Amino acid sequence: MNFDFTDEQQMLRKTARQFVDEEIMPHIQRWDAEGGFDQAIWKKLADLGFMGVCIPEQYGGSGMDYNSLAILCEELERGDTAFRTAVSVHIGLNSMSILQWGTEEQKQKYLVPQAKGEKVGAFGLTEPGAGSDVAAMATTAVRDGDDYIINGQKTWISLCDIADHFLVFAYTDKSKKHHGISAFIVERSTPGFSSKAIKGKYGIRAGNTGELFFEDMRVPAANLLGEEGEGFKIAMASLDNGRFTVAAGAVGLIMACLEESVNYCHDRETFGKPIGKHQLVQQMIANMEAGYQMSRLLVYRAGELKNKGVRNTRETSLAKWQACDFANKAADDAFQIHGAYGYSDEYPVARFLRNSKAPVIYEGTREIHTIMQAEYVLGYREDKKLSHMLPGWPFE
Ligand SMILES: Cc1cc2nc3c(=O)[nH]c(=O)nc-3n(C[C@H](O)[C@H](O)[C@H](O)COP(=O)(O)OP(=O)(O)OC[C@H]3O[C@@H](n4cnc5c(N)ncnc54)[C@H](O)[C@@H]3O)c2cc1C
Repeated sequence: MNFDFTDEQQMLRKTARQFVDEEIMPHIQRWDAEGGFDQAIWKKLADLGFMGVCIPEQYGGSGMDYNSLAILCEELERGDTAFRTAVSVHIGLNSMSILQWGTEEQKQKYLVPQAKGEKVGAFGLTEPGAGSDVAAMATTAVRDGDDYIINGQKTWISLCDIADHFLVFAYTDKSKKHHGISAFIVERSTPGFSSKAIKGKYGIRAGNTGELFFEDMRVPAANLLGEEGEGFKIAMASLDNGRFTVAAGAVGLIMACLEESVNYCHDRETFGKPIGKHQLVQQMIANMEAGYQMSRLLVYRAGELKNKGVRNTRETSLAKWQACDFANKAADDAFQIHGAYGYSDEYPVARFLRNSKAPVIYEGTREIHTIMQAEYVLGYREDKKLSHMLPGWPFE
């Protein structure tokens, strides 16, 4: 067991923190209010090698380990959840899935430009009638010669109007239920594809989230990821990576809550002393610290298993569930510590609280992870080795 960060990881954290302080912090309250961030940020993320941080160098990435991805997510979410969500879908749910399941041709065509940050990837699983219950999806893909014709709709898709490539899930054989779902790489430019943002979101307002529509959309059979019928497995394996980034981001949000709360505790005085001297305020600070320390250990443990190239569905689910719950509570407490001032946009804590809610819902709700953990302990659920495992680190 080694709890030390490498020099490279420390450098990554320093660079990411500086990036957030200089490029995100000065603008984020305005971006959150306006409902979108400056798209020039993508180029800056790419120039720093962040868009492919844990993708092997041979595929255009920076070749760092999976805990480096966690460090990046922590630091980005310290700035705002919208940026970590973007990295979650681009790297965790899309690029890492192509790395894990893609053919060499697919990797060259899609993974390389994504890892270099020339193209942005996203993930389309959820539908109006299918969230936690993935198999309730209605989107279909029918084979026609060398193509599949896809019809259907997705909703709540992060980067719906921004991404160039989408990993899309559809039924190729509904009679087979879970085993009849397949995964496709879809380009935005495909005729029959359209997208539309959802307005009036509670949180992650600087981010883009919305619907995808597929109308007789012809996708080459060469864009099938994995085998026909492997889509459900691919979706769940993708979530192992996405959830890891969400958990790491939650650690960053707790960090941000602590930072703001500690500053405020020293500045604000009531009854003749700084509020940090009141024990009930200290209790909220102590709970944040406990949540922060426990969550990061769960995240790095899951990252270490990824580095070893072994399955980590159980550990990642636990990290995601706990870290997001702790972050939601930390944001609520940070808001409380700020009293009425937390209620305005003079301080970022109201944004933290709004942002902390979606991660408790997406990539497996709190309830779904609770059930998963109980099932593991009770012996009702067991993970088997997948036909395609995420490559361990160091990469060969
Ligand atoms: C900001 C945001 C971004 C998102 N980005 C993406 C994205 O990029 N790609 C994508 O595919 N999806 C995305 N999603 C969708 C997200 O993954 C789904 O919202 C999530 O899976 C839950 O599905 P649902 O909202 O349909 O809730 P439902 O599944 O309808 O659940 C409703 C409630 O019932 C509970 N529930 C459901 N089943 C059970 C059960 N068996 N036992 C106990 N309780 C249960 C749930 O926990 C929840 O409380 C995003 C969502 C948000 C909010």
